[in-house]
Amino acid sequence: MPTSTLPLRLAIIGGGISGLSSAYYLLRQAREGDRPLHIDLYERKATLGGNADTVVVDLGDYIDGEGLPHAYLRWADLGVNDVNLATYVRLKAIMQEIGYLDNMKPLQDTTSYFNRAGTLALTDDAALREGVSDPAFNLGHADSGHLAQLIKVVHRSALNLLSTITPHYTVGHFFNACMAQPATMLAKAAAQLRIMIAWHDPQLPARLAQVRDAIYYPRIAAMYFTDERGPAVLPLQAPFEYYRLQEGDSGGITPVPPDRRYFAHGAQKWLEALADYLLAQSNALVTINIHTDITVSTQVRDGRVVAFGHDQAPLDYALCVLATHADDTLGLLNFDTGMSDWGRKIGAMLSPVRYTRGYAVCHTYAGLMPHNRNIWRTYNVLQRDAGERSFPYRMSYVENLHQNDPANPSYSRTGLPMFFISLVQSLDEIPRDAMLDRVRDTDRIAPAMLAQLPRATRRQLHGEALRTGYRSTQDTVHPSLANKAWTVFKHNVLNAECIAAQEAISHYNLATARLIGGGEQPACALLFGGGWTRGAGLQEQCLQQSELIAGWILPALRGAVSAAAVAAAPGPAAAPAAVARAA
Ligand SMILES: Cc1cc2nc3c(=O)[nH]c(=O)nc-3n(C[C@H](O)[C@H](O)[C@H](O)COP(=O)(O)OP(=O)(O)OC[C@H]3O[C@@H](n4cnc5c(N)ncnc54)[C@H](O)[C@@H]3O)c2cc1C
Repeated sequence: MPTSTLPLRLAIIGGGISGLSSAYYLLRQAREGDRPLHIDLYERKATLGGNADTVVVDLGDYIDGEGLPHAYLRWADLGVNDVNLATYVRLKAIMQEIGYLDNMKPLQDTTSYFNRAGTLALTDDAALREGVSDPAFNLGHADSGHLAQLIKVVHRSALNLLSTITPHYTVGHFFNACMAQPATMLAKAAAQLRIMIAWHDPQLPARLAQVRDAIYYPRIAAMYFTDERGPAVLPLQAPFEYYRLQEGDSGGITPVPPDRRYFAHGAQKWLEALADYLLAQSNALVTINIHTDITVSTQVRDGRVVAFGHDQAPLDYALCVLATHADDTLGLLNFDTGMSDWGRKIGAMLSPVRYTRGYAVCHTYAGLMPHNRNIWRTYNVLQRDAGERSFPYRMSYVENLHQNDPANPSYSRTGLPMFFISLVQSLDEIPRDAMLDRVRDTDRIAPAMLAQLPRATRRQLHGEALRTGYRSTQDTVHPSLANKAWTVFKHNVLNAECIAAQEAISHYNLATARLIGGGEQPACALLFGGGWTRGAGLQEQCLQQSELIAGWILPALRGAVSAAAVAAAPGPAAAPAAVARAA
């Protein structure tokens, strides 16, 4: 196979964690192999970070010891907001390399389970470091400690099953089997954990029902990828693989204690830092351009991909990495007539992936919180009423705890307002006057705070009306909502169809990679990444997918890509008008 020292020309579409990290891993591999590479990354919004959306809100004034008023402004993440450093090994390694790790601060990992009627109130305070845990509500004390022990056993049993089940084995199947045959389902895990369960205790069925209805169903219904038909229909692997990664293997035989962190000054800052690092590393060997504010569409031709963006001449690429949602990806791909079979094949793989949308709102409305203020916790999970439609990702964070006020002297002032982020189905669930405003001017902001914020947030503070989050409805909302601190988010439902689509796209990716590895240019020069392609799409899973993609492209970087494919490139692209070196 002829080789070439011309750079491999590659497009990445999507400026979220998936697109940026694909560029990161490609950069590393090209550097290590001393191979020329040219990357154009395209993002349709004016800012980078995808699902990350950091706002500044105004909570009024506080009076200092000398009686002087000061503005009480806080930042808050409406989208991605925390990670578990104990299990996010790739994220931690990248943050270490780019010098970002110190910005990851420990949060207070506590949860409250409650219902609207006030008859359910349990707190998981195992990780409580500051504050008081009332034994009357502490999960560890409930039912003389039996409930907490049973939860550990149920959790371990579900984790044990993960390697043996198919996506058609649901959360409902699991709990039904536990209720029908507790010893058969749970004895192995109980023995592993050395927990004694009285299998013939007449209380056991009711206790198992409580574990299901008071803890797991509400918590699973609060995960962003849940099926809106309710937690029972979700594949068991979906929430339990999420638990393992995001919350630690808490039921484990040798448990990995979680190390939950939030992004100081906002998650968007981390993704901007990653973009800055990429741009700073860009040189003659590996060139990286980041183009923001460009909605790209593509024409897939035999052995290459042509990208079209507004105000920009079409550009040819030997390979294109899609780091966008499955439905957005379908919308931006066009296939030449000779490639229509590929179009159909890819359409069949991507179209079963279903999405839900919701709102994240920053507010001070206590009506969405447990009645009893003493059981407000970092994560507050609502138990739905019987028959209530199970809208995904319904929960409220107490931002003061998420940002760990007690550990932050500059925040820790008694009497200052508690403020929340709630994930809701409709903006009407929160009174307008309790919704906080997105601060849009810098007058009230201390320069030190301003300097720390993500660039995207600062641009808004300077008055720019940027499209943020998945905020496509921004133009049609009621004027009274235009300036409020909310966003729209969108996520794929992690149902059996989505898992099947993940498998199909992984086979497709591998087949394409095999061609590249064998020195051939694939006819359909696309590789698929993005949160929807791997597990629940947590940041670590996005990184895992990006690392794989870069590995698949590696042989092409070794010069094995056909001369024809490289020749398709018009040489180094002229910098288009909207190239953003710093978005
Ligand atoms: C509300 C919510 C909270 C979450 N919280 C966490 C968390 O705390 N921790 C965690 O690890 N994970 C969390 N997740 C998971 C999260 O989705 C992923 O970590 C991550 O956002 C997925 O990144 P991505 O790059 O694949 O997609 P996105 O972040 O959605 O980025 C895709 C990008 O592609 C762009 N794009 C689309 N079409 C085009 C086009 N035609 N041309 C150019 N650009 C285009 C979009 O504008 C977008 O910026 C959360 C998810 C949701 C929904």
